[in-house]
Amino acid sequence: MKVLLLLISLIYSSQIFASTQIYSFIKDKDLKVYKVKAFDRLDKILERHSFSRDSIKLAVANKNLQFLSFLPEIQYLAAQSSNFSFIKFYEPFNDISHIVLERNGQLTVEQMTTEFDTQKVSTKGSIQGPLFESIKSRINSDIVSFRFSDVFSLDYNLVKVLKKDAEFSLTVEKLFDHGKFIKYGEILNASLDINGKTYRKSFIEYEGGGVHFSNDTNYHARPFFAPVTYVRISSPFQPRRQHPITKRVISHNGMDLEMPSGTPLYAPANGIVDRIGYKRAPGNYLVIRHSNGFETYYNHMDSLNKKLVPGTKIKTGQFLGTVGCTGFCTKPHLHFAVKQFGKWIDPSKKIKPFTYAERNRFESLASNP
Ligand SMILES: [Zn+2]
Repeated sequence: MKVLLLLISLIYSSQIFASTQIYSFIKDKDLKVYKVKAFDRLDKILERHSFSRDSIKLAVANKNLQFLSFLPEIQYLAAQSSNFSFIKFYEPFNDISHIVLERNGQLTVEQMTTEFDTQKVSTKGSIQGPLFESIKSRINSDIVSFRFSDVFSLDYNLVKVLKKDAEFSLTVEKLFDHGKFIKYGEILNASLDINGKTYRKSFIEYEGGGVHFSNDTNYHARPFFAPVTYVRISSPFQPRRQHPITKRVISHNGMDLEMPSGTPLYAPANGIVDRIGYKRAPGNYLVIRHSNGFETYYNHMDSLNKKLVPGTKIKTGQFLGTVGCTGFCTKPHLHFAVKQFGKWIDPSKKIKPFTYAERNRFESLASNP
């Protein structure tokens, strides 16, 4: 999975190029693979691997480890001897890994990118119950199941169009480091039957990301390009609705795109900056006004393009700032929302899956209207 590798190396270049595998003294045969346990935390894991109390304190305070997710399906490598304890953690959705090493009482924490060895696995099945469960019955991974719906959810409202017994197939990467299986990677090919027709998508990689694409989808009518180079939806648009039993109102007026902090954001269309600044809940935010009554919203940004002020003209593809976790946020992501004539609408049906910079390649592949 080289997706994001380039992007990430740009962001973290200083750390990466300084890194010469600080654990090169550890032999492959001494590295063991471990499963993250349910509800695991950094301090608990380090304790299990005999890190000292002082080292655990330092590691927990480390900024790069702050947003690391401990998902039970992500494995990690560890090794131990009388004078060192070593762990290599892997981020779930990109190639970043984190080394935590205590050697002769000294703690080192370092971030690096991993060149995984990749195998491909393919599976197929049919929809029995929810899509998520149907995929999971074939390949036991929450990550792969969620990712499968990403592949098609820009094109279809899957909840509405999927029928029982509809067939699906997928090919996904299995990622290995030091010969050990760590996690699943990108879905390379996927197919899904919708209304009796089979739709196929393939992953096409490009600088800083990639897109699941098929040349039978027509995106010409969509008003916006993707604001990021890699669309991974961690939380979809959910119109305001009251839960029938709990009466709790669940709503999410935009879509959350989970990306590492520092990932660049690009204008999805021409427009004018309406509002820009910082507020308690959205953090660093930006609102752009477009033609046809559209407005786009960007929340939790790490940095805002300093040239932008209310009234600034925005050109499609222009750099807007970077993904972050400011305001009410627990993990770096872009909260991207779209209003038309003052009403929130589902952004996933208004964006093309690729950025403006990649338009030539994908628009020539797509069928014409
Ligand atoms: Zn959100």
